[in-house]
This record gives sequence, C-alpha cells and structure tokens, in this order.
Amino acid sequence: MKAVVLSPHLDDAVLSCWHVLEGSGDVTVVDVFTGSPPPGTPAPWWDRLTGAQDPVDRMRERRAEDARALGLVGRDAVHLDLLDAQYRDGELATGPLAARVRELLEPDTVIHAPAGLGGHPDHELVRDAALELARGGWPVMLYADLPHGIAHGWPAWVAGVPERAGLDIGADWVAVLAEAGVTVERLVPRVRPLDVRARERKLSALAEYRTQRAALDGLAFVPLEDPRALAFEVSWAVPASAVGDPDERRSDGIVAEA
Ligand SMILES: [Zn+2]
Repeated sequence: MKAVVLSPHLDDAVLSCWHVLEGSGDVTVVDVFTGSPPPGTPAPWWDRLTGAQDPVDRMRERRAEDARALGLVGRDAVHLDLLDAQYRDGELATGPLAARVRELLEPDTVIHAPAGLGGHPDHELVRDAALELARGGWPVMLYADLPHGIAHGWPAWVAGVPERAGLDIGADWVAVLAEAGVTVERLVPRVRPLDVRARERKLSALAEYRTQRAALDGLAFVPLEDPRALAFEVSWAVPASAVGDPDERRSDGIVAEA
C-alpha cells in the first residue's frame, strides 16, 4: 500500500517518521512549506537564529539538504511550495491544502501527518488538512512532532519511566489532540522504539540538514545525539469514529445496538 508523509518543513519527515521512510513499500514525502519568499525579504527569526542572511538562498540550501537526506533512505519528495509561517502574513486555509494533497493520493494511500504537538502553526495547518481528508474517508496516521513534542521529555506511557516531578507531558499531548477536534480515546496509539542502529541511521540523515541541525538540539529536552531524545517515534491511527460528529456517532451506536 502506498503511503505519503506530509512534512510541514523540509526536515519533519526524517525527524518524526524515520520508521516509515525506512519501512517497506512505496513512500513519498510531501514537503509543504518549501517556497521561497520574494527576493530582498529580510531574514526572519528562525533564519536569523540559524545564521542565514538571505531567505531565498536559505530555502535553496534547505531543499538541497532534504534531497540528500531522503536520498540516504531512497525516498523522493514532492514540494508544495507554500510559504513558511516566518515568511507570510496571516494564516492559510486548510481546504485548499487538503485539495492539493488529495490530488497526489492513489486509492487507499495512507497519509502520515503531524499531530501539531508544540503548537507550530505550519504543523497545525498540515494536521488540520489531514483531518479533513480523514473525515473524507482517507486513512490517516498522526505522528508525534519531534523535537517539538519532547521539549520537556517523553510522556510516561511512551518511555515507560515516570515523568519529572511537576510535569504531565501526557496530559499536554492529549490536550493538543483534543483541541484539534479528534476524539482522543478513539485514536489508536503506536510506539515505535528505535534501536541504536536505527538511531544512528536517523542521525546520519539529520546531519544532512546542516543549516538546521544545531538549532534542532535546542528544541528537545536533551540534544538529539542523546539516546533518550530519539528513542521512540509515536503515531496514532485516526479511525473515522475519531473525527466524526459526536451526535452522528451517538446515533450510529443506537443503530448498531438495535
Ligand atoms: Zn517543522
């Protein structure tokens, strides 16, 4: 079965869905925010932080980095060329993005999309487009956004060890999913531990994102080389009942019982 990984930025598929990229079958990465702003645009905050002078040059570098990283795992990417949040004014609508993704899908394609953990508006937009497709009957898996979702560590249910006293990361993840409009208790979670060798391969791919790599370390609870940081990848299958209207589900239940 064919799969697409919706990658808001040029590194998100490798950061969060390495097990999908390394898995079997036909997998295509759809990089969403790959567009360059108009020439002469001053470097906005993330570009400044990562040492860029010219956003047009920087996006060209980032697209080349992504091609090298995905080449290591034998995958290709499609670019949708939308403008990253740091380059645009205001929010984009989910409908047109969902329509563009739909054009790329073959029957039964599984869509992997970010859960939006960490609250980045680009990730939330891609998630919301994927949930729109889920409501249209497409199979969707949400993935935990790395490193954004682990700014403070892993939830206890993922890592199997208690969270630091005073933190409830699991509750934070649940709140994000609930705010996205899904019925969290109907999602089907899956934890994929990455062994040492898989982590090494993933880190080698991440090293290709040379312009981004140092800044990514600052977004997780420990630097990404630390074995705890990339120990897991987490996803949730989104059944139709998790994205339906609650009243419809209730009437469905009544019909089923009858
Ligand atoms: Zn991202």
